[in-house]
Amino acid sequence: MWIVPEKEIAGLMTRAAAFDAVEQVFAAMAAGEARNFAVVREAIGHEDALYGFKGGFDRTGSTLGLKAGGYWPNNLARRGLINHQSTVFLFDPDTGQPRAMVGGNLLTALRTAAASAVSIRHLARADARVLGMIGAGHQAGFQLRAALEQRSFDKVIGWNRSPERLAGLRAIAEEAGIRFEAVDLPGMMQADVVITITSAFSPSLMADHVRPGAYIACMGTDTVGKQEVEAALLARATVFADEVAQSVTLGEAQHAVAQGALGAGDITPLGAVINGTHPGRVADDQVTLFDGTGVGLQDLAVAASVVERAIAKGGAVKFDI
Ligand code: NAD
Repeated sequence: MWIVPEKEIAGLMTRAAAFDAVEQVFAAMAAGEARNFAVVREAIGHEDALYGFKGGFDRTGSTLGLKAGGYWPNNLARRGLINHQSTVFLFDPDTGQPRAMVGGNLLTALRTAAASAVSIRHLARADARVLGMIGAGHQAGFQLRAALEQRSFDKVIGWNRSPERLAGLRAIAEEAGIRFEAVDLPGMMQADVVITITSAFSPSLMADHVRPGAYIACMGTDTVGKQEVEAALLARATVFADEVAQSVTLGEAQHAVAQGALGAGDITPLGAVINGTHPGRVADDQVTLFDGTGVGLQDLAVAASVVERAIAKGGAVKFDI
């Protein structure tokens, strides 16, 4: 059994490898070759922690396992540790024996950014030039770096509830040689691609903040009750998701579905576009939208990729079990 500690992940994993792993697993999910298992999430009654498991099996990637972890709200203040903590466990699907244990904290950010990068590649207009960012928290920088690789953007615009936090995004854009402008929410009308990555429970981006032909990646809503965009925007857009079942229950689509403005049958798995069984964007003035809810198979895919890299390059420790 291999162990790849959290401290080794940054030196081993690349955005390109995360992109490939996530694109492949979305394709496998849409082809019926990979499935996510029911998510377990429990308040454990200790340290106010939320703890759970997200598991799945990908037959094409021969990847079986789970991500275990959750949210410990007191970690940072009391112990100087990050509040989100997770570890991925991989098993041999032929025997059930443990194959690897992999630090999951950085991988979670990389696989979430890879999901929106994959969605931009397949759903945004090829001539997109202005990238809009809504949110400037921990995930936002990862999202921005990955998105910038997908189109020839010449400007990044950003909005955050506390505007001073936009400095981090400005630095990333300028490091890439791209100008950055802080805007108000109606200013998102300039954007060809918008990424929403907040933990909000009420919408920031409204339907009339979005220009015809825009592409929106909704990446922050992963829980019942959270919401980043107006439900009317989903009714106006052609909607795609990582997994439709999650999108309608705990993703951004939950609100449009509850209002009767959208049904599960209106949402297409992004993997179908990757596989070529759905055309994706078909018109330049069409608004396309991806509901990225985050699935366990994404974690397993990037963890399997990092284990391969760690075995080849060093960075993994082997134990006989
Ligand atoms: P963070 O706490 O570092 O940042 C939160 C961001 O949300 C900040 O920009 C903050 O200003 C903004 N925000 C909070 N409340 C708001 C409100 N009411 N209105 C507008 N903006 C508000 O969090 P993070 O780690 O960057 O994560 C952001 C979101 O992404 C969270 O909801 C998290 O659960 C989610 N997430 C999703 C996935 C996925 O796979 N889809 C993966 C990881 C994280």
